[in-house]
Amino acid sequence: MVASIKPHRDEAGLTDGRMLIGGQWQAAQDGQTWQHIHPATSEDVATFPVAGPADVDKAVRAARKAFDEGPWPRTRAGERAKLLHKIADEIRARGQELVRLQALDNSVPLSFSEIYATSGNFVADVFDHHAGWVDKLAGETLQPYQGGDHMVMTLREPIGVVGAVIPWNAPLMLAAQKLAPAFAAGCTVVLKTSEYATFAVLRLAQIIHEAGLPDGVLNVITGPGDPTGDALINHPMVDKLSFTGSRAVGSRIMHAAANGCKRVTMELGGKSPAIIFPDAEIGNAAAITMGTVTLGLSGQVCVAQTRALVHRDAHDEFVATAQMIGSMVNYGNPFDPDVTASPLVNTRQLDRVLGYIAKGIEEGATLVCGGARAEGDLASGNFVLPTLFTDVRNDMAIAREEIFGPVLAVIPFSDEDEAIRIANDTEYGLSATVWTKDINRAFRLTKAIRAGTVGINGYQVEPNVAFGGFRQSGLGREGGREAIEAYTEVKTVLLPFTDEMM
Ligand code: NAD
Repeated sequence: MVASIKPHRDEAGLTDGRMLIGGQWQAAQDGQTWQHIHPATSEDVATFPVAGPADVDKAVRAARKAFDEGPWPRTRAGERAKLLHKIADEIRARGQELVRLQALDNSVPLSFSEIYATSGNFVADVFDHHAGWVDKLAGETLQPYQGGDHMVMTLREPIGVVGAVIPWNAPLMLAAQKLAPAFAAGCTVVLKTSEYATFAVLRLAQIIHEAGLPDGVLNVITGPGDPTGDALINHPMVDKLSFTGSRAVGSRIMHAAANGCKRVTMELGGKSPAIIFPDAEIGNAAAITMGTVTLGLSGQVCVAQTRALVHRDAHDEFVATAQMIGSMVNYGNPFDPDVTASPLVNTRQLDRVLGYIAKGIEEGATLVCGGARAEGDLASGNFVLPTLFTDVRNDMAIAREEIFGPVLAVIPFSDEDEAIRIANDTEYGLSATVWTKDINRAFRLTKAIRAGTVGINGYQVEPNVAFGGFRQSGLGREGGREAIEAYTEVKTVLLPFTDEMM
């Protein structure tokens, strides 16, 4: 049996969650709650409120008031930056507490959160990075096109009230990627957590609130898509929707945005290729590619490199190493330092992943390892054995659809043109990696691949660079100048020097 999660809940001081609305911590007005079931043990961890339309309305009105009447959009750039740096310092100081709550949420192992983007340090870095943009947001001064004695300039102003919706897989990091640029720009926010990961984000909200952000600038509501998310995305007082999650829900949110002419940023799914040439360090390429699909969040990562396009001359070595990495994965209680990977977040996701595995076998792919739910001591959780398929064709479901689980599909290729064609033969375009020692080839492929981020001989998420997807992987970017600008409107100012222009 996986050891009980409950002692960690008690040690984290976890109580039933309350939502932050207009600076007050509150339950849902109609008393509705959601029971959080831990994915590693299926134990009840705690409850949190399900915000109904009345709660959502209250949160949006609080954000509206804080924007229209409050000090935040008018706070001097230096003061705003200082507060964001203070928030970053508090997050860094309480990073361990936050990642422990995250492990209670979605079972991401502490061993993983100590190093990767799910860590408190990364979340703090996101706030520091955006704090640095506050005093660099700038408009332009332009030449009058038609001549005349006047000046033309643009200003960047905060967009207003942001409705942010995030998924469960990296809740702290994904909340920060929305909150930090929105606050930096002077916006106010209503953030809806995922129903599968609430506790760490509620503690993050507490840290931000206690650091001194004015009431109503951050409101956090909890609950599922129906009714909570629906009420938020359709609320007429929301100016912008910022969403991270699946393509299916993203598409619904874009419809809601279209109805209200709201601005949108969309960070959606992926089916990213890793392209491995025979001159690469094959062992390294195989270890990292299989690692992105099986370690940490067990492939429940938007940028997981789930299609390994492997040159026929490197195929057997790649498959042997990937299989070995799969056999080293250690499942269990996320608080155990030896545990290296998580279960699937819920039973719906468990069934979905097992369904894709069955489909892969049915469509003729060769199952090299895994392919089943982990039994025995692990049977109480949603664990699926690390799974490797070879002989995959790019038209199979396991090569086309986002599985969001520990499943790697190996697709062989013979030359560069074929590799590019297969890599781009997808509806997605979030990320890719190219593995080769030939720098010319690396850049040829980098330019040819239709994806928002391309890694050459490796891949690392950074807090300060633009991140986002081509095609159905998203719209807009998070991180870097693009992120803060996405929370602004451009205002043109015309300034005649004489009366002649009137
Ligand atoms: P999901 O789309 O099922 O849910 C995401 C959020 O949307 C949740 O908070 C959910 O409650 C909410 N939601 C659901 N229906 C809604 C509705 N009708 N109205 C408003 N909100 C609604 O995704 P998930 O399972 O939580 O996360 C996995 C997905 O997220 C994957 O597709 C993954 O690729 C994607 N993801 C993308 C990125 C990125 O940066 N591109 C990062 C992480 C995850």
